[in-house]
Amino acid sequence: MSTPALRTGEAAARPVPLLSVVIPIYNEQEALPLTVARLRPVLDALGVTYEVVGVDDGSTDATAVIMAKLQQDWPEFRSVRFARNSGHQAALTAGIHRAFGAYVVSIDADLQDPPEKITEMLALAREQSLDIVYGVRGDRGSDTFFKRGTAGAYYWLMRRLVGKNMPNQAGDFRLLSRAAVDALKALPEHQPVYRLLVPWLGFASGEIVYVREERVAGSTHYPLSKMLRLAIDSITNFSATPLRLATWLGLLSFVVCVVLAVYTTVEFVVGSTVPGWSSLFIGMLFIGSVQLICVGLLGEYVGRIYSAVQARPSYFVGYDSADEWAPARAGAPSEYVR
Ligand code: UDP
Ligand code: MG
Repeated sequence: MSTPALRTGEAAARPVPLLSVVIPIYNEQEALPLTVARLRPVLDALGVTYEVVGVDDGSTDATAVIMAKLQQDWPEFRSVRFARNSGHQAALTAGIHRAFGAYVVSIDADLQDPPEKITEMLALAREQSLDIVYGVRGDRGSDTFFKRGTAGAYYWLMRRLVGKNMPNQAGDFRLLSRAAVDALKALPEHQPVYRLLVPWLGFASGEIVYVREERVAGSTHYPLSKMLRLAIDSITNFSATPLRLATWLGLLSFVVCVVLAVYTTVEFVVGSTVPGWSSLFIGMLFIGSVQLICVGLLGEYVGRIYSAVQARPSYFVGYDSADEWAPARAGAPSEYVR
């Protein structure tokens, strides 16, 4: 008689793994097999129970096929699939929310973050009872000049907004303890930007330095437009400073207006008002542009309030292989809240 397929509840007794490794994956058909080939020996050698949560962010290439195969060949591999592409941070959210482990490490699928460092991260967290271990990029030599420049500007600005808690050059390669994961899950963030939210938690943290390697295959999914989006999300997520800036700009333009008004009156009294065209025109342009900037800033925040009020989920999970052996989790309502 053949063995029946897994029945509901049959395999629910799987032990809670010590470590979950979350990998957001979008169109990585070339990189994923290489990543797995390097990651698996590292995890097997750890000597602890683990699971790998691959989150397929609506890939349109052969990624889904590769993941289905992996699921068969690698018992610790779980695949979660989005119904459509929802973005890197959304994929991270799904992975972190669904991970079972006592520690959760997030890592990219393109081998830019060396899997070997996971061993160090876990050891550091366990030895020093840390809740967060950041992977800090010691050398960005492999990144393009442009990427280094924009990243440098981004971290500079973020450190000013979030404060010194935020480690410089720490991306999304990091370890979180169960306590940190639970704290993150409890946040009502609509568009979480983890590289800011995690330092904001302020939990006990450590760092391991690593060399950011070159993408092993394929090309980046972060064009300038997405980087700008991340920067705007990061700023508006964390700070009302731009709004205050609008107030200061408004005040400044008011002062300039007063000066110009005095000047205009004097010119009028003296009787030489006609040549005032240039100053009038410049003043008009200045005030117009300041007003537009302020309206734009307001718009950014109103937009965020609008989408927060709508409270639409930022992703839809179409499939999670763990649902086959952990039925209690299937359709957990918390998953769909945001
Ligand atoms: N990614 C994702 N959804 C997206 C874009 C990217 O899940 O819409 C994944 C991608 O597969 C990779 C990680 O996020 O594992 C980082 O993306 P990428 O390497 O393209 O960004 P970069 O390292 O160039 O900033
Ligand atoms: Mg990358």
